[in-house]
Amino acid sequence: MASAARVDLDGNPIKPITICMIGAGGFIGSHLCEKLLSETPHKVLALDVYNDKIKHLLEPDTLPWAGRIQFHRLNIKQDSRLEGLIKMADLTINLAAICTPADYNTRPLDTIYSNFIDALPVVKYCSENNKRLIHFSTCEVYGKTIGSFLPKDSPLRKDPEYYVLKEDESPCIFGPIEKQRWSYACAKQLIERLIYAEGAENGLEFTIVRPFNWIGPRMDFIPGIDGPSEGVPRVLACFSNCLLRGEPLKLVDGGQSQRTFVYIKDAIEAVLLMIENPARANGHIFNVGNPNNEVTVRQLAEIMIQVYSNVSGEPSLEKPTIDVSSKEFYGEGYDDSDKRIPDMTIINKQLGWNPKTSLWDLLESTLTYQHRTYAEAIKKVLAKPVAS
Ligand code: NAD
Ligand code: UDP
Repeated sequence: MASAARVDLDGNPIKPITICMIGAGGFIGSHLCEKLLSETPHKVLALDVYNDKIKHLLEPDTLPWAGRIQFHRLNIKQDSRLEGLIKMADLTINLAAICTPADYNTRPLDTIYSNFIDALPVVKYCSENNKRLIHFSTCEVYGKTIGSFLPKDSPLRKDPEYYVLKEDESPCIFGPIEKQRWSYACAKQLIERLIYAEGAENGLEFTIVRPFNWIGPRMDFIPGIDGPSEGVPRVLACFSNCLLRGEPLKLVDGGQSQRTFVYIKDAIEAVLLMIENPARANGHIFNVGNPNNEVTVRQLAEIMIQVYSNVSGEPSLEKPTIDVSSKEFYGEGYDDSDKRIPDMTIINKQLGWNPKTSLWDLLESTLTYQHRTYAEAIKKVLAKPVAS
């Protein structure tokens, strides 16, 4: 049972609130719901078109938090209930988006509509009804680093001034329009600017979150098991799928891009601090990532292969990775962010948050989950004779 004596970072008691969470049925939403229900007294109005990832929180009605979560199956593109639900809540958190890179260049219209147009009414209803908004953007709004445009042998490439991404200083650098990869980043950037302007001109209380590769259990889907066979999820699920099937992991354009990965449970702690410390979070844009967990995608594959072998007890393949071109893997119009290191000054100063979990540890718990959840189902699929 959540205690009534919980206090915020300034020692003030935290009052229970009602949160309208849009996209609550997704990867981040499911972890945030879990945290809010098990550790706080807050109520959640959970909105999504799907609820598979939060079913364990909705049923049975003997769960300790029954009565504190209500699921509303709705599509924010067209549903007249949206404004009423925002009005019923103290805070709206918008997570809804198309956010898998395989969609950005192949479904650019859906991507732009989902990340910009569909978010407009949410911002408008919050602003008009004086409701606080926490909006999920992305680290991808930074695009490419300044350093990536320097000559390959320039010593400046090693200078953090040329690659560390700062909320209030770094420019947003996208590729040309024909590289439709950037449709997502550009739509997210414009909705950030709109929210910022609503704050400046109309007093909207907002916080913008820029996640840097949050990963963990329930992320995306395993193709052919709980998602379409031809679907291409984000890298964690792509690599998990290959490991589960005993197939080589595909390294796009040599796997040279760099990423920093943060454990979902660490990142959710940061979101909870934002929810419960409005005076410290309002008006801010926050990078949320783990600058200590940087690897190239090739290194990520190597670590996952090792960890999965430990977790499953199965030996790794003789040739565990293969190189594929981005055109072959994602199609025309793909492009990539070269490197993503979050500057942590603002989130440290405002919320005192720091990530804790190492890449090895977060992959160990995540791959243990993947193995436990999917290994049997994959075995059954692989045992079925292929239709001729
Ligand atoms: P997700 O795809 O698992 O979750 C998004 C949820 O939104 C899904 O359950 C989906 O059904 C729902 N949704 C989409 N459109 C909707 C609509 N029109 N009406 C109702 N529901 C709708 O993705 P996630 O990883 O949980 O990401 C959540 C947010 O965080 C997104 O805005 C994403 O851009 C952002 N983000 C996440 C990461 C990350 O590392 N996971 C990185 C950068 C940005
Ligand atoms: N990637 C890869 N193999 C895969 C899936 C992804 O090499 O099977 C690469 C992808 O090209 C990118 C990185 O992994 O450089 C991270 O991809 P993800 O889809 O997780 O999203 P991003 O971090 O680009 O938003």
